[in-house]
Amino acid sequence: MSKTNRPWTKEELQEIVHLPTHLVAIISGDGNFLNVGPTADTILGWEPQDIQNKNIKEFIHPEDIGKTFESIESLLSGSKTIINNFTNRCLGKDGGFRWINWSGKASNGNIFIIGNDVTEKVYFEQELNLQAMVLESISEGVVICNKPGTIAYTNTAEEALFGYAPEELIGKPLQTLNAWTPEESEIQLRDVMETLRKKGVWKGEWLNKKKTGQIVTTACRVTILMLNGEKHFVIVQRDITQEKQKEKEQERTRNRFQTFFEQSILPMEIYDLEGKRVAVNSAWGKLFNLSPDEFSINILNESKAKDVGLYPYIVRAYEGEAVNAPAFYADMSEIFPHARSRWVEAWLSPIFDESKKVIEIAIVLKDVTESRETQKKLERSVAEKELAENRLSMAVNAGSIGIWEWNPLTDELHWDPTLCKIYGYEKGQNPGTLSEYRRRKHADDDAEVQKIIDGAKETGRPYGFEHRIFRVDGEVRWIQGSGTSFKDENGKIVLYMGTVIDITEKKVAVADQSFLSQTSEILSSSFNYLENLQKMADFAARYFCDGCLIDQLHPDGTIKRIVVGGERPGMKEKLFSIHERYPQRYTQEHPLFISLITGRTVVIDDVMEFSKSYRSKYPDSYFEELNDVGFHSAIVVRLKGKENLLGTITFFTSKNSRYKFDGRSKWLSEELAYRTSMSIENSLLYIHSQDAIKSRDEFLSIASHELKTPLTSLTLQNQMRKRQLEKDKSKVLDEKNMLKMIEADDRQLKRINRLIDDMLDIARIRAERLTIHKEKFKFCAFVKDVLERLSPQMQAAGCELSVHLCPEVTVFCDSYRIEQVVINMITNAIKYGAGRPIRVEISSSNMKVSLMVHDQGPGIESKDLERIFQRFERAVTGREISGLGLGLYISRQIVELHDGALFVKSKLGDGSTFIMELPLDHD
Ligand code: ADP
Repeated sequence: MSKTNRPWTKEELQEIVHLPTHLVAIISGDGNFLNVGPTADTILGWEPQDIQNKNIKEFIHPEDIGKTFESIESLLSGSKTIINNFTNRCLGKDGGFRWINWSGKASNGNIFIIGNDVTEKVYFEQELNLQAMVLESISEGVVICNKPGTIAYTNTAEEALFGYAPEELIGKPLQTLNAWTPEESEIQLRDVMETLRKKGVWKGEWLNKKKTGQIVTTACRVTILMLNGEKHFVIVQRDITQEKQKEKEQERTRNRFQTFFEQSILPMEIYDLEGKRVAVNSAWGKLFNLSPDEFSINILNESKAKDVGLYPYIVRAYEGEAVNAPAFYADMSEIFPHARSRWVEAWLSPIFDESKKVIEIAIVLKDVTESRETQKKLERSVAEKELAENRLSMAVNAGSIGIWEWNPLTDELHWDPTLCKIYGYEKGQNPGTLSEYRRRKHADDDAEVQKIIDGAKETGRPYGFEHRIFRVDGEVRWIQGSGTSFKDENGKIVLYMGTVIDITEKKVAVADQSFLSQTSEILSSSFNYLENLQKMADFAARYFCDGCLIDQLHPDGTIKRIVVGGERPGMKEKLFSIHERYPQRYTQEHPLFISLITGRTVVIDDVMEFSKSYRSKYPDSYFEELNDVGFHSAIVVRLKGKENLLGTITFFTSKNSRYKFDGRSKWLSEELAYRTSMSIENSLLYIHSQDAIKSRDEFLSIASHELKTPLTSLTLQNQMRKRQLEKDKSKVLDEKNMLKMIEADDRQLKRINRLIDDMLDIARIRAERLTIHKEKFKFCAFVKDVLERLSPQMQAAGCELSVHLCPEVTVFCDSYRIEQVVINMITNAIKYGAGRPIRVEISSSNMKVSLMVHDQGPGIESKDLERIFQRFERAVTGREISGLGLGLYISRQIVELHDGALFVKSKLGDGSTFIMELPLDHD
């Protein structure tokens, strides 16, 4: 040893410094190169002179400068005597850096360093690190073992997979992780080796064992990796125990489903995404009587699916929705004659894969043919029933038919809203019990209705009844009802049901008709029309009002109350008395006159209020008395015959009356007024015709008497003359006597003539053939002339005549006819003037001339003032004064043919003034 351990020779040192593998240098304390070995060139490419005296900073990677100087400092300060394994990057002449591993030492303020190039090694380590990092980062377990099977590396995932601590497996045999027996291991290994040789990779499942002993299945991938020239195996494995488990379960589910699908009694089919049928079960075949293979379809192209409305449901199922399609008729017979067509309902449900994507759809059918047919039948019967019910309810609503139901066991009475309305109950109210219903029934009708119900109870047949009810508001109305009883199995009545209609209107209409026909009967019951009217008024007052007044219009324009009807004691007398004491004054506001003039029916709601409009025309006492009568409302209707106004009829209600006037009352009033008018007119006509007959009879007897009187006297005269002639001719033929006889005969003949003329005139007038021949003449002179001719008669009657004439006027008239009138006026004055003075006066105005003949006879009753101008009418009866009652009638006709007027002013006992007015002639 001592031989070899001799000091280095200078040459030897030089050799070491020149070792080509190492960089040698001495640097000053501030980092300048003091001396550099020649290898700088081999490693970094620098010539020593390139580096000499330069600072090391210029040759060190900037990132490494700091730590380099730190090391220098630690050597210089003596904190470290030597530096080993210090690596930094140094700049090569080619511009690239190389990793140099340095050792160094300080001596005399300088640093001695020696370094070798470790660039390749550093890069290799970096690469290894990178690989390890990759292996660590993968989630699958990685184990690397060498050829003999010793584990060289495991990643964190592998350790976690098997439950080992980090690096616990390194150096252990791979067997540690296996759950195989050595034999199985052997076989497995051989398979792996062989496959690796052939394919370079082995994939499969291993049965492994965790540290805890738990067996797990892993999916393995084995590849070969050369490390440091040695063959290594890289095993990548993933625990698939759960997946295996799941797979098994899925398999089981599949089996279960398969069995279920096949054996289900529900027909089922499965279609893939293209619409192709991929499965169909035997129940389906049975349903349609088809072998499943016989009938393959594409459900998406099937036009039938569209026809029956299934298509939209198919689409929805493919879109992931489970849907129920309504029943449709699967008509298979078109395609397969032997197939059965059925009504089916379908449930369509999507079949998903794990990612919830629809992969198929399943259709389950339900045969609803039977239930469908039953349903159809049911629907038909329900529809029919509904129709019937609708019809009924329409009938019920339209006819306002109320419906009731009564349970005799519980006394529960149920009424429908229509019935409640008929009784006037408010919404929600209801009688509820039979006793309440009975309370609303008119007591007078009780017995009758009860009889009907009792009868129906015995027979069990439907029954009908009519009775009056008291509505909730107190109004009395008529209802018509029907009822039917329902029995239980023991024959006990458990329910009554029926309908009710309000027939008040009908009843009222019928009653009104009967009332009117009764009034017609009353009105024609006797010849005494006043008696009839009275009965009618009383009857009306019992029916729809409290009283009735009939006021008759007289030709002179006065109104006379002829009837007061009504039952209230004292009312009749009072109303007659008021009428007499306060005669109607003409006022346009008075309801009687309104009605008379306009012909309108006057309906007065409040009589006293209404009477205010004509208050000024009557004294207050009149209204007070009227008020005492207690009028409330009134309806006034005009009475009118075919031509003449007859008066008015008034119907009234009293205060607090049970009657209330409405449209119906107005109608009844008008109907009664019409009937009353007819009755009055007929009666008047009758009376008139009776009078006419009487007048005619009288006329005939007077006419015959009148004719007979002159004829008798002529006959007598003749017989007398004959006898005298036989006795003493000279006496009869005496001139004086002869003249006297002729004059007497002449008078009689004139009388006969006049009578016959009158009768002819009447006939002419009736035939409208009375003609006039007008001429102009002086009226006063004409009258004077007539008066003169009549003076013998006046003298004979002992009447004094006074004549007062106006200045002469001219008229354009038929003088012969006017003379006839004047003679009639004067002879009447003589006839009826009782021998008292007669005054004749002529006066004229612009237009007309008036002749007045005034006598002081008995005068004429006002009721006869017009009548005497009618045919055969005479104010005096009997034969006290001769006359046919034709003169005035003919005279008026003549005057009226001349557009003039003939009338009389007279008062009984106060003489009469007959006035003839004729138009003046102005031409
Ligand atoms: P006659 O005189 O033939 O009866 P008239 O037509 O002339 O027929 O008269 C009709 C009736 O009128 C008479 O019957 C009589 O009652 C009444 N009358 C006519 N003139 C007078 C008179 N001046 N005074 C009273 N009554 C009269």
